[in-house]
Amino acid sequence: MMPPPSSRPKTRKHPMSRREALLWIGTLTAGGGTALCGVGGLIALLIGRKNQEAVRLQTTLTAIAMTPPGTTLTPPVIIPRDQWGARTVNHQASNESGFAPANPLGWLEYQGDLAAVYSTVAIHHSYPVRRDTGTMRELQDIHMDGQGWADIGYHFGVGGDGKVYAGRDIRARGSNVAGHNTGVIGVVAIGDFESEVPALAQLNALQNLILWLRAQYTLTHIAGHYEFNPDTQCPGKYLRLQLDTLAYNCGLTRGTGGYIPPTPISLLTGRGCCP
Ligand SMILES: [Zn+2]
Repeated sequence: MMPPPSSRPKTRKHPMSRREALLWIGTLTAGGGTALCGVGGLIALLIGRKNQEAVRLQTTLTAIAMTPPGTTLTPPVIIPRDQWGARTVNHQASNESGFAPANPLGWLEYQGDLAAVYSTVAIHHSYPVRRDTGTMRELQDIHMDGQGWADIGYHFGVGGDGKVYAGRDIRARGSNVAGHNTGVIGVVAIGDFESEVPALAQLNALQNLILWLRAQYTLTHIAGHYEFNPDTQCPGKYLRLQLDTLAYNCGLTRGTGGYIPPTPISLLTGRGCCP
């Protein structure tokens, strides 16, 4: 995802309401870290409990909405790159190595059994690209032209209508979780899930894709992008709510505990990118 623009107004037309003041006090005290005390602390605790209740309720509602996986695995229909108009990989891309200091050769491909390499699937949204209008080609253009990467950074994409797309070659190391790409499959659900809600067809397709990936590569973990890189909100608040359910339904452990540090450089081979 791209960094969110600042939307905070510089001046206020009206004085702060009582509710806004309470929320503001709560924000200050909650953001202060360890010292929750006095009236502000009590307000913060009450607001925090109310927020937790809201989150729990929403999680429950969405968990019910997602179709539980069946006993038999249905392989996803994966739309190949040529059908979404993918550009050719640029092995000379200037910034392909930017994600990992231990990746000086740029574009790298895993050798051998991918089940021995992959452990984790990382879930993204495509902010600011929207759910019903965004395309894989649009994301690829952003990554290649805006970021200077060799290709789209994700291995798979799931559209708002539930269609599943092939992204970066599964044998190539991804560019989607800064400094932690080795052993991680990157999957983007197309949409801005800070401001819109994933479609049910999209969530079901995402779940089925993850189940299939787990079976193919013996995955053990699932994590939101923000769990690797805390400076991002990706995959957005409405998709973050689904991650526990996805983990449970897919038999995966939530979090980054399965990450493999990029030490086995012998597993990788370069394509002669950057000096
Ligand atoms: Zn992301």
